[in-house]
Amino acid sequence: MKLASYAAEHWIEPPGDAAEIRSAIDGSTVALASSRDVDFAAVSKHARKVGGPTLRKLTFHQRADLLKRLAQYLTEHKASLYDLSFHTGATKRDAQIDIDGGIATLFAYSSFGRRELPNDRILIDGAPVSLSKGGSFIGRHVLTSLNGIAVHVNAYNFPCWGMLEKLAPALLAGVPCIVKPATQTAYLTHAMFRLIVAAGILPEGAVQLICGNLGDLLDHVTGQDVVSFTGSIGTSRLLRDHPAVSVNATRFVAERDSLNAAVLGPDAQPGTPEFDLFVKEVAREMTVKAGQKCTAVRRILVPDALVEATGQALSEKLARVVVGDPRADGVTMGPLVSLRQRLDVLERLAELAPETERVFGNPEAISPVGADAAKGGYLGPVLLRATRPDQAAAIHSVEAFGPAATIIGYGGLDHAVELARRGEGSLVASIYTYDVEVAAELAFGLAPYHGRLHLVDRDSAGESTGHGSPMPGLVHGGPGRAGGGEELGGVRGLGAYMQRTALQGSPNLLARLTGAWSKGAAQVTANEHPFRRAFDVIDLGETLQTASRTITLEDIEHFAGFTGDNFYAHMDEAAAKANPFFPGRVAHGYLILSFAAGLFVEPAPGPVLANYGLDSLRFLKPVSPGDSISVRLTVKQKAPRNAQYGEVRWDVEVTNQNAETVATYELLTLNALTEKAA
Ligand code: NDP
Repeated sequence: MKLASYAAEHWIEPPGDAAEIRSAIDGSTVALASSRDVDFAAVSKHARKVGGPTLRKLTFHQRADLLKRLAQYLTEHKASLYDLSFHTGATKRDAQIDIDGGIATLFAYSSFGRRELPNDRILIDGAPVSLSKGGSFIGRHVLTSLNGIAVHVNAYNFPCWGMLEKLAPALLAGVPCIVKPATQTAYLTHAMFRLIVAAGILPEGAVQLICGNLGDLLDHVTGQDVVSFTGSIGTSRLLRDHPAVSVNATRFVAERDSLNAAVLGPDAQPGTPEFDLFVKEVAREMTVKAGQKCTAVRRILVPDALVEATGQALSEKLARVVVGDPRADGVTMGPLVSLRQRLDVLERLAELAPETERVFGNPEAISPVGADAAKGGYLGPVLLRATRPDQAAAIHSVEAFGPAATIIGYGGLDHAVELARRGEGSLVASIYTYDVEVAAELAFGLAPYHGRLHLVDRDSAGESTGHGSPMPGLVHGGPGRAGGGEELGGVRGLGAYMQRTALQGSPNLLARLTGAWSKGAAQVTANEHPFRRAFDVIDLGETLQTASRTITLEDIEHFAGFTGDNFYAHMDEAAAKANPFFPGRVAHGYLILSFAAGLFVEPAPGPVLANYGLDSLRFLKPVSPGDSISVRLTVKQKAPRNAQYGEVRWDVEVTNQNAETVATYELLTLNALTEKAA
């Protein structure tokens, strides 16, 4: 199979002398790859001139729709990918994590886009910032799509998920992508990419693929671009220090070596559910993808007294692992991706040897099921134990990227934290305890050094997503050695591909620019009640100022009797007076809300279909019997939902007879479109 690159809507075949990519199973040639004939300047130009402008014209909802359709298409056609996936050394279960996990990430981002982002091209970040006494000059942050390209340099271990987890947030943010898979498993990325192109869903220039090396692509990056890398520290440094990347301050996101820990709490003695969960998860983490996972557990931290028991329990589990051709019956762990990677792991194990003793496994003395041990990257699981953890250095810095991990004994919890921190920054750590205080001490000791903490106990284990699985809605990345990058994390993930800008100006101008009204911007009074105005007709700033209504003691007592809310602040003068907040009996907050609705509602059937809820409700001043309240209702924001209706966010302010604000909130209604607009 020749792996063509996809550049400027053309497939560029590799030349005759392209590099051979060998199967992890038996060393046979699976594919040929070379990007020598790719014009990288043209690739960069195509993304900038065609892909970027087209994507940026779409709203977040339209881009989310593309992701969903793409995910559906890939789901329908994914079956063809599994056979190919075996050649990477992946078992069927490993392939599901890669292929199905990748597609699930697309679905998740499509959903974040539709549920959490506006049907717009810009994102408002936070509330208006007051900058002047008179209120005529304010500030507001917005995020806009970078006008550049995203270069995604991926690792070999997740050819599909690695591509899709980077594509999803970038495309949703409106940035075109150039995918450069690791050559060793590029045939699987290539096969999925062919499906993406065949689907014909993404606009021209939105995605391109480089099979082979990166050529001079980085010479063409600018300050509007993002390079997102997953792989080794050495390559990360090389790319980050590329002159164009450093001179242009091109955004660089790195996810790289990580010596992740699993920490067993002192309470989790053998016989407790937490001990069993720990052993099961560590064994799984060591062997899924033959340990070639950036999140795999490398350091197993247990109380000194439990080193022996942990070693025994893990050895029993690891003894059941069946290494072999992932296509053969009964095989639970496939080979490493290549003979080279196998050699690399053996070299790393040799570096760990002076600081450790072997508890389980002789990696080279295995007979893989259905395979020739000399032809594929076969390696048995290896469990080590640190002999002098405090004096050791390699166990905290050398990542053997295979089915290997080291048990490290600790004294107290602060010792456990100190040892884990010696990894100098990791993607994830797991904590196994049923003791809240142990969990707190470990979690907050480890948090500054980790991107994710996985807390496991008997209550959550049944539904836990596992130590090693990055979730689309949660941050994936870690400080220090792990690269300092942050990916995924729901809509946070779009931040890497968008520029945050502080806008300063009049409230009125900023309301028009951002589509979000704020206090101080113009208020418009239409000829008709705003509840008679359909979604497509009603405008930002349209305001209703109501008449006032006096609240009597009878109102308060009636409300208390009717609702059953006889709280002393409303019903007991002496008790209310004794309360530092109230002058005496006061109106219920809910009474104020109800009367406010009574003042602003227009009762006849009309475009307002439903009250959808309240946000940011605050009661700011008590309302005493005899006080009069009135309401200002202003259209703050509009968000289209579908062809029938949209969501109107109203700014509501309730004031008393002295023009003091007694309550503020945002009211959400669903408003129908006019028949013409629908
Ligand atoms: P590399 O850093 O060598 O490769 C990662 C990516 O960078 C690949 O796409 C590779 O392409 C590309 N690349 C390599 N050299 C260059 C270069 N000079 N210019 C541009 N791109 C380049 O990592 P490996 O995949 O070989 O893995 C090596 C080690 O890295 C592992 O043993 C493991 O320790 C660590 N690793 C860590 C991961 C993590 O997420 N924490 C994930 C994967 C690996 P090509 O394949 O074409 O060379």
